[in-house]
Amino acid sequence: MFEPLLPRTDQCFINGIWLDPMGRQTLPSANPSTGETLCEIARGTDTDIDHAVSAACRAFNGAWGKTTAAERGRLLTRIGQLVFENVDNLARMEAMDVGKPLTQARADAVALARYMEFYGGAADKLHGETIPYLDGYTVYTLREPHGVTGHIVPWNYPMQIIGRSVGAALATGNACVLKPAEEACLTALAFAELAHHAGLPPGVLNVVPGLGEEAGAALSGHADIDHISFTGSVAVGKLIQKSAADHVVPVTLELGGKSPQVVFEDADLKAALPFLVNAGIQNAGQTCSASSRILVQALRYDEVVAAMAARYTALKTGPALDDLDVGPLVSNAQKALVEGVLSQSGGIDIAATGSIIDTAPKGGAYVAPMLFAGASPDHILAQDEIFGPVQVVIPFKCEDEAIAIANGTDYGLVASCWTQDGARQMRMAKKLRAGQVFLNNYGAGGGVELPFGGRGLSGHGREKGFEALYSFTVLKTVAALHG
Ligand code: NAD
Repeated sequence: MFEPLLPRTDQCFINGIWLDPMGRQTLPSANPSTGETLCEIARGTDTDIDHAVSAACRAFNGAWGKTTAAERGRLLTRIGQLVFENVDNLARMEAMDVGKPLTQARADAVALARYMEFYGGAADKLHGETIPYLDGYTVYTLREPHGVTGHIVPWNYPMQIIGRSVGAALATGNACVLKPAEEACLTALAFAELAHHAGLPPGVLNVVPGLGEEAGAALSGHADIDHISFTGSVAVGKLIQKSAADHVVPVTLELGGKSPQVVFEDADLKAALPFLVNAGIQNAGQTCSASSRILVQALRYDEVVAAMAARYTALKTGPALDDLDVGPLVSNAQKALVEGVLSQSGGIDIAATGSIIDTAPKGGAYVAPMLFAGASPDHILAQDEIFGPVQVVIPFKCEDEAIAIANGTDYGLVASCWTQDGARQMRMAKKLRAGQVFLNNYGAGGGVELPFGGRGLSGHGREKGFEALYSFTVLKTVAALHG
C-alpha cells in the first residue's frame, strides 16, 4: 500500500513535483478540535498560479491531450484503487484538518475513491451523435475537453468536491489546476501525490494552496483557464462569475442552500426521523445541501418536534478523533459567524440542544446542536444559510402552503418530501424548486452517480453523475458534404 508521504505541507504540487511558493510565505492551518496550529500551508500567489497553469497547458498540448478515453479511464480507476487503499490515512488527515468526525471523514475518502472509479468507468462511454440533415451530408457531434480547467474548492467536503469536479475533468481529458480552501489543504495535496504515484503525468493535476483573494482570484482571472468550477459561498461565486466573464469562459457554480424537508401528515415518521435530524447535523451542519428547514403539517407538528427534540438532546459534540455525532466547526472564525446568526434568534422557541462533552478542549470550535421550533418562514434563521448544526421546524396547513414555504427562499439546491400519497409525491417533485428532490428519503451530499447543482442563489451547472461529463466538454458539430 502506498501512503501519501506529504513530506512538506507547506508546498505546492506543480508539474509533478513539490515546490515552495515563489513568495516563500506560509499560512498557519489550525486543528479545529483543539484550536492549536496543525501545520503551515503554502501561501501561493499569482506567480505560482501562473506556473501551475503553464504546466497544465503544456500537459494538455502534449501527451495528455493525445490519451485515449480508455487510457484515462484505466488511470482514474488506478487512482481510485490507491485512494481506497488509503481511506483510513486520508480520513485521519481530514479529521485533524477540518474537525470532521472520523466516520464522516472516512465516508468522504470512500466517496473520493468512488468518484475516481465512477469517472474511470465512464470515460470511454461518452460519445457524440449523428444528426440527420440535408441530402448528401453526414453530420456528427464530438465532445472535446475545454483544455485547462480551474477548480476552486471549499473546506466543508474537500475530498468529495475534488472527486466530483477533478474526476470528471480528468476523465474528459482536461488538465487541472486546483486551489483548495485555506482551512483544508492536506487531503488535496495527498490526493495529488496519490494520483501522481498511480501514473498521472506531470502537469495534469496541479495544486496551489493559498488565500482566496490571492491564489483563488489569480486562478479565476487567469487568461489561459478555459473553464472554472467553483464551490463555495454566494458572495465569492458572484466574483468568480464576473471574473470569468472578462475572458468569456464557462463557469459551474455550486453555492449555498436552505434546503427543506416537507413532512405531510401521512408520513412514515419512524422512517423519516433519522433523515430529518442527520441531514441537519451531518458535518456539524456545514453542508451546502444540509436540510436546515423542516416543514411539518399541522396535525403531526407537535409529534415531529418532540421526536426531533429527543434526538437532539442525545447528540454529543466533541473532538473529531473521538468520532461522536458532531465535531467542531471548521474554525473559530466559523463558530463566531454561526453564533452571530444565533444571536438573532429572538421570536423562536429553542426546542432542544445537544451537548458538548466535558473533555472537549476549550480552544476548539464547538457549537452545540440547536433545534428551533415555531419559526415563521421569513425569520432570519429560516432564510439565511447558517452553516452550523442548527435546524428550524416550521408548521404548514396544506400542500400549496408547503410549496410556497419550501420555495420561499433565494436558494434551490435540494428538497425532500415525506408522504405515502403517490400522486402527491409526483406533484411535489414537479413543484419543488431544487436541483435534486428526494421522495421519502434525503441525501445531503451523497450519491456519486446523481447529478447535482442548484437553482437561484444555489448556483448553476451540474456536477456529479454522467451529467458532469457534459459540463467538462465542449460540443463540436461536424457537417460533411460528400454528395
Ligand atoms: P468561500 O466562498 O469563502 O471559499 C470557497 C473557496 O473560494 C476557497 O478555496 C477560497 O479560498 C476561495 N476564494 C475565496 N475568495 C476568493 C476570491 N476572491 N476569488 C477566488 N477564490 C476565492 O466558501 P467557504 O466558506 O469555503 O465554504 C462555505 C460555502 O460553500 C457555503 O456557502 C456553502 O453552502 C458552499 N458550498 C456549496 C456546495 C455546493 O455544492 N453547492 C458545497 C460545499 C460548500
